[in-house]
Amino acid sequence: MSRFLNPIYATLEEYVPGEQPQDQKYIKLNTNESPYPPSPKVLDALTRENIERLNLYPDLDGTQLRSMIAAKFGIEPDCIYLANGSDEVLSFAFMALMGEGSKAAFPDISYGFYPVYGDLYRVDYEKIPLRDDFTIDCAQYHGIGKSIVIANPNAPTGIAISPAEIEEILRSNPNNLVIIDEAYVDFGEGISCAGLVSKYDNLMVVQTFSKSRSLAGGRLGFALAHRDIIADLEKIRYSTNPYNLDRLTLHAGAAAFSDEAYFDDCTRRIINCRSYTTEKLREIGFEVCRSSANFVFARHPAISGEELYLRLKNMGILIRHLSGERIKDYNRITIGTKWQMDQLISAVGVILAGGTNNAQQ
Ligand SMILES: *Cc1c(COP(=O)(O)O)cnc(C)c1O
Repeated sequence: MSRFLNPIYATLEEYVPGEQPQDQKYIKLNTNESPYPPSPKVLDALTRENIERLNLYPDLDGTQLRSMIAAKFGIEPDCIYLANGSDEVLSFAFMALMGEGSKAAFPDISYGFYPVYGDLYRVDYEKIPLRDDFTIDCAQYHGIGKSIVIANPNAPTGIAISPAEIEEILRSNPNNLVIIDEAYVDFGEGISCAGLVSKYDNLMVVQTFSKSRSLAGGRLGFALAHRDIIADLEKIRYSTNPYNLDRLTLHAGAAAFSDEAYFDDCTRRIINCRSYTTEKLREIGFEVCRSSANFVFARHPAISGEELYLRLKNMGILIRHLSGERIKDYNRITIGTKWQMDQLISAVGVILAGGTNNAQQ
């Protein structure tokens, strides 16, 4: 810490992302990226001509991409905010729509960034415990009178709630913002709340290109909400970093969004592979949460979460171990290709059989 840091940030505990090793070839199942490359249309969009125009600032409005997203969800372009990853939307929402001294609520086990934003912007937040089976007890949010943030499907459990349950939360808190973080919604079935945006002016739906559209490295997310909420986010953007999306990402995003067939194919493969992986893990004794996401959350009675994570890492496979009293026995495992999942399952088999603890084979 330098002597210049404002003391209000001295005790801030920052978010810790999953490892992103750049030096070694791991089977990487730790940060919920897609195992598939972006759509071939994305490669075609990153032309020499587009690269040559990097000397010019990008389109401030992201006009093309915004109108494509608007058309898909049947809302007006001014009800869409384009972001440098959905983390940016969440950050701005905690900053401007909540902020110092405001009250908020989210589940005790959820995306680890929510409490970090809460602390950064000095929001007075409450963490509402999941039930013992890790499902969200929606009734606890009815009429709570605080801003609400729910990841649906939830992370790191993968468990989803229905739009009907979310509607009840929206209806009973008409004067509070409800943010539904749909980072993994494309791996569930019909659970998006996007269709409710034109009905509830207190709803913000957040989605990302990072998972289902294979663009984690491009940093692109978006929010759908009433135009007045979007205008508030735009105000923050124009007060921080108006050119939040670079030229190439805007082109890549539009190309990825246009390729429905590729998107359907990739998400279907992941969903099928999730069933396969869940079944295989259960066969060897794992308890696996019912996931609607591109990962599974699982524990094994014979080995601690941390030990399994370390042993697999030693064998060249990265999964995500999260600390926290209620979840320390679990690991979050991203669904990769079938080949990657077979590697994982056989490595786990070796570990459970008391086999090698040796380095990379
Ligand atoms: C991955 C993730 C995000 C962040 O996604 P980016 O668009 O890459 O910033 C947001 N929310 C949840 C729940 C996530 O898992």
